[in-house]
Amino acid sequence: MDELVKIKELLAASEERAADLADFIEQGAMPLHWVDGNGIIIWANKAELDLLGYTREEYIGQPIAAFHAEQSIIDDILKRLADDETIINYPAQLTCKNGHIKDVLINSNVKRKNGTFLHTRCFTRDITDYKRAEEKSAMLAAIVASSDDAIISKTFESIITSWNDAAQRLFGYSAAEMIGESIVKLIPPDRLDEEPQILDRLKQGKSLEHFETKRVTKDGSLLDVSLTISPIKDAQGNTIGLSKIARDITEKKQEEIRKNDFIAMVSHELKTPLTSMKSYLQVLLGQAIKDGQSFQVSALTRAELQARKMTAMIHDFLNLARLEEGKIAINKSLFELHPLVEEIAGDAPFLTDNHQIKIADCEHIRLEADREKIGQVLNNLLSNAIKYSPKGGVIIIGCEKHEKQVRIFVKDEGVGISAEDQKRLFERFYRSKDETIKTVSGFGIGLYLVSEVLRYHGSRIEVESTPGAGSTFFFLMDYA
Ligand code: ADP
Repeated sequence: MDELVKIKELLAASEERAADLADFIEQGAMPLHWVDGNGIIIWANKAELDLLGYTREEYIGQPIAAFHAEQSIIDDILKRLADDETIINYPAQLTCKNGHIKDVLINSNVKRKNGTFLHTRCFTRDITDYKRAEEKSAMLAAIVASSDDAIISKTFESIITSWNDAAQRLFGYSAAEMIGESIVKLIPPDRLDEEPQILDRLKQGKSLEHFETKRVTKDGSLLDVSLTISPIKDAQGNTIGLSKIARDITEKKQEEIRKNDFIAMVSHELKTPLTSMKSYLQVLLGQAIKDGQSFQVSALTRAELQARKMTAMIHDFLNLARLEEGKIAINKSLFELHPLVEEIAGDAPFLTDNHQIKIADCEHIRLEADREKIGQVLNNLLSNAIKYSPKGGVIIIGCEKHEKQVRIFVKDEGVGISAEDQKRLFERFYRSKDETIKTVSGFGIGLYLVSEVLRYHGSRIEVESTPGAGSTFFFLMDYA
């Protein structure tokens, strides 16, 4: 009797396990189905139905071929299974109820009873997302390969990890020659310090756009390139490398050189007649003052002021052209700042009669710099302070001594500069969008020259400004 109870218990336990297993197969996440010897679906679990979107009634009893995009695949699979082959990862495409096509891998073998084919046992693996991602990356790879711009990826240690065809065309090295090599191979010796600066910027999460520089090709020639470098991030947002797009801008540079040559030539030609005009005006002015002809004095003073403005503009153009050609030379000497500031402020009455120019705390400061160029910097800042304070007011050229450096500034009570304009003010030809100063003439060169001259001195022009209240332009210099 005991035996019977035991057997019943065992039977019940095994039935429970079988039911559990059946439920697991039915409810599990793996799509499974069986197909009979005639290719008719005889069973499918929930995951299989969910994968394709059919109900059990719509799916079971149908020929499996009806769901395959390609008929020949089914014939092939069934034939192989009939030969007792186990099918592993057979790529196929299935049609869903909503008409979408799913990319799948089919895994299947045959269940036989006493040697007779009963049915197939198939596990369908959905690889649609993976396929789409693969297609997308193949498309991106094709774009990279066919791009006209050199596209290179590298590690934070500057080791090249990919190199497209355009990079080969531009620099002359093949991918095989460059992958695994350091990018430094492309940098001219006098620009080697650029790479650590670029990497620092990128490590801070910033990217670098349209950075114009030079690079060396395999045959040793120098190329003008514009670089855009950005971090490459993985799906989790971790930076795993850097992508670099290099564009050949040699043609554009040549065009700029031609333009600069033209500007330099025209400016130079204008200088000579203007100088002689100015001296005649001065002679006439002296004569008119002597003769007490007040109308002539006022008219000639104005004419002379305009001639001075023109001279200043021509100087800016000439300096710009020199700078662009890299012909700017810094001739440093040790000089007292105060007399220079006085000279510059002393010229102001020729430019304005409704501004009050003050000098503050610039005594006993000696600079080791190019006196003439620092003079140009101050002159530019002062004439801007006058130009952009149409209502007049106080302008201060001042100095603030710190331990080793002096902060030299020009402060006005003029129109001020918006935060947006402040960011771009020192670019070549940039002029602010402020409507109130639309009528003020200028070319947007002055501040670019200021910033370049200071850069050559290892310093940097900066601005603090409140629209409507005024601006302070300043820079730091070492003093003796
Ligand atoms: P320009 O005066 O010939 O336009 P600059 O390069 O000297 O060229 O100046 C660029 C722009 O910066 C000006 O067009 C002006 O909008 C703005 N700017 C310069 N200095 C001042 C200032 N002191 N106050 C307000 N705006 C200024």
